[in-house]
Amino acid sequence: MQCRFCKTELEHVFIDLVNSPPSNSFLTKEQLNEPEVFYPLRVYTCHNCFLVQVDEYKKSDAIFNSEYVYFSSYSTSWLEHANRYTATMIERFNFNSNSQIIEVASNDGYLLQYFREKGIPVLGIEPTANTAKVAIEKGIDTVVDFFGVVRPLELKKEISGIDYEAHESMALHQLEVIARDTIAKFALDSVIVHHRIGFVGAGEASVAVRTSSRHRGESYLANEWIMDQLKTRVPIWKEPKFKQPKTNLSAVAATASQT
Ligand SMILES: [Zn+2]
Repeated sequence: MQCRFCKTELEHVFIDLVNSPPSNSFLTKEQLNEPEVFYPLRVYTCHNCFLVQVDEYKKSDAIFNSEYVYFSSYSTSWLEHANRYTATMIERFNFNSNSQIIEVASNDGYLLQYFREKGIPVLGIEPTANTAKVAIEKGIDTVVDFFGVVRPLELKKEISGIDYEAHESMALHQLEVIARDTIAKFALDSVIVHHRIGFVGAGEASVAVRTSSRHRGESYLANEWIMDQLKTRVPIWKEPKFKQPKTNLSAVAATASQT
């Protein structure tokens, strides 16, 4: 596995929490008699850039969706920490009303609210619509940004990335139509959609979607809707680039002997 930031081959396990079901994926009563999927929760650290990271077994857009139930503000001790942290940062960096604090993955505004309270402009960026909505209701400017990232596996095989090819003028036209449809359907103020073409390496973003709205609620489902529309309506084709398989002589011999 490679570091998702600097691509160094990861060698060091930071902590191995063995197997766990996806966080906050609560079961319904009907599901209690069914098998539950557990994923390895092995956390690595990169010796080059020190990023601590997990292997991606479950698709991130399946976790960070509009039913995301982790609201940071539920923990009072965490809020106390966030409050103390903002005071420390303001003192250390002399933030004032001319500064702007931007937090990526700002959840329900648990942190930015304390900067704002101290008179410092803030902006949150958050992919899960329901937590972003709570932040906006607290008066914290938040954009619901979604980045579609190329995953390292395709058909369970490792890939180095994906080559995207497009009928460019048609694709641009379709993106515009989707943006307009989304604005109308969800009563938004604006929609920005970017899709890269050419080679995009595993772990890099191929799609960026930003929606903004003065209205609340349903409109934040727009990101998910846009991702679905992209797959069906835009003439962009993808070709996964598989990594060279390592020659495995014993496997070849075993296959040969079976035939
Ligand atoms: Zn790294």
